[in-house]
Amino acid sequence: MADYDAVVIGAGLGGISAAALLAKNGMRVLILEQSDIIGGCCSTFESHGYRFDVGASIVEVIHPLDKFFQLMGKRREDYIDLLPCDPIYSFITEDGRRFSYPTDIDETTRVIESIAPEDAEGWRRFSRLGLEMIEEMMEAMVTSPLNTVGEALALVARHPRVLRYLPLLARNHQSVIRSYYRNPTILGSVAFQSYFAGAPPELGSGIFGFIALSEHLGIYYPHGGMISIPEGMLRAGLEHGLEVRTGCKVERIILDGNRARGVILEDGTEITSGVVVSNVNAKVAYLKMVGPENLPSWALKAIDSYSLSMPCPMVYVGLDEKPDLEAHHTVVSASVEDMNRVWNLYYTKGIIPRAAMSLICWPTEADPSLAPDGHHILNFLCNAPAPYAPLGDSWDRLKDWYREAAVRELERLVMPGVRDHIDYLEVSTPLDFERRLLSPQGAIYGLFSDLTSLALFRPHARSRVIKGLYLTGSSTHLGGGVPTTIASGIITSGYVLKDRG
Ligand SMILES: Cc1cc2nc3c(=O)[nH]c(=O)nc-3n(C[C@H](O)[C@H](O)[C@H](O)COP(=O)(O)OP(=O)(O)OC[C@H]3O[C@@H](n4cnc5c(N)ncnc54)[C@H](O)[C@@H]3O)c2cc1C
Repeated sequence: MADYDAVVIGAGLGGISAAALLAKNGMRVLILEQSDIIGGCCSTFESHGYRFDVGASIVEVIHPLDKFFQLMGKRREDYIDLLPCDPIYSFITEDGRRFSYPTDIDETTRVIESIAPEDAEGWRRFSRLGLEMIEEMMEAMVTSPLNTVGEALALVARHPRVLRYLPLLARNHQSVIRSYYRNPTILGSVAFQSYFAGAPPELGSGIFGFIALSEHLGIYYPHGGMISIPEGMLRAGLEHGLEVRTGCKVERIILDGNRARGVILEDGTEITSGVVVSNVNAKVAYLKMVGPENLPSWALKAIDSYSLSMPCPMVYVGLDEKPDLEAHHTVVSASVEDMNRVWNLYYTKGIIPRAAMSLICWPTEADPSLAPDGHHILNFLCNAPAPYAPLGDSWDRLKDWYREAAVRELERLVMPGVRDHIDYLEVSTPLDFERRLLSPQGAIYGLFSDLTSLALFRPHARSRVIKGLYLTGSSTHLGGGVPTTIASGIITSGYVLKDRG
């Protein structure tokens, strides 16, 4: 008899979501996590009395999280305390102007009217279509499998209205938002979200153009830091016998012919199981853990063809005073043209942009308990996106330079005297992300997401080449993000349970 019914590699959101649901359905499930803390990109670490979020800084679109708890037969409120963040964003323009978007859609109309009266009607049309679409898509897609043409047809048969939104998939982010807005400031305020899917506005799918609206359904910060989300989900799973081991790195997937039979850890320990669920990057799962020698040539070609998503350096700052900010998130906005330029002229050529978009997250605005009394935290994505391999240099050598550049950006844009109030500062470069999370090249959303790598075209949640192997997390449909990876775990557990009969 195998040691477990299912072994899950990685305690990211996708892994925990799938594992807990399998445990709830009576399976003996073990999660193996290489790090000492769970949550992967959606996690929190402690340093010098501050609790910094590793990556993700908010959750929006909480439908998949609620669905997870509903499937677990529990109430989300009993496990995770979500604090609403309103306004959604405060913007700082290059010329130093500030404005904020509240959650309320009508109040946002008034903000837009005050900046660009000509775009208020566009915002009304954008929100009408967007709200309708988000409601339909949420029900139809977020927790439904979409790996095969048959599944796509079944989805359309169940939700025929989704067909109306298909043309958006074929358009790019910037063409969608440009059909609603003219003013460069307003366009900038709804364009940067394409980077939340890991691509500039000219490459991101038009469907992501509506992220700017989904935020108005509410954005939330969990009390205790972002780790409270995976911790709450894990706790729900532990109540059904789920086991987790941290500090356990999986090296290989044990194969018997083309069937997964368990995993081998770094120290050589073998753990057997009939089902292996991988929450690690799909390229790592196939090319390192399964091994190219065990893949048919078409599968090897297919997995090779995916590009990794972009990395993103982070700056974690502890302050001894309250920052001069107006919202949980402050965006230092750029024009749509600059967002594309940064990608084409800097990122793809291996150059770190000197000035581009920055996103400043202020978690102690929502939850002061994350820092010592009277102190504050800023998690700062500075001059993004930045390449994994800076041309002719390395992140380890550039770290001090980058740290100084980040402080100068904060001084220039947020608080002129911030330097004197920095109590602690740590930089996590793409190399550090790779070391911390074993995420290849520090990729933050698994694989790059364009039209050729979405939905049916993304690596399948149920492996087509290795029986008993399932994938979950940002490398699978619906890509990177807190809600999407929780949804991926729901979808993956559905396949496992279906295959068990
Ligand atoms: C800087 C940054 C900012 C972000 N901001 C947001 C945001 O604000 N909102 C949002 O919705 N999303 C955001 N995201 C994206 C979101 O956090 C991720 O898409 C999501 O958390 C990824 O979940 P996952 O299931 O793919 O697993 P991951 O988080 O990738 O976790 C995979 C886990 O596998 C473990 N692992 C790797 N290799 C092994 C191995 N060999 N053996 C055992 N364990 C292994 C890793 O340690 C890790 O814990 C952000 C991401 C980053 C990095």
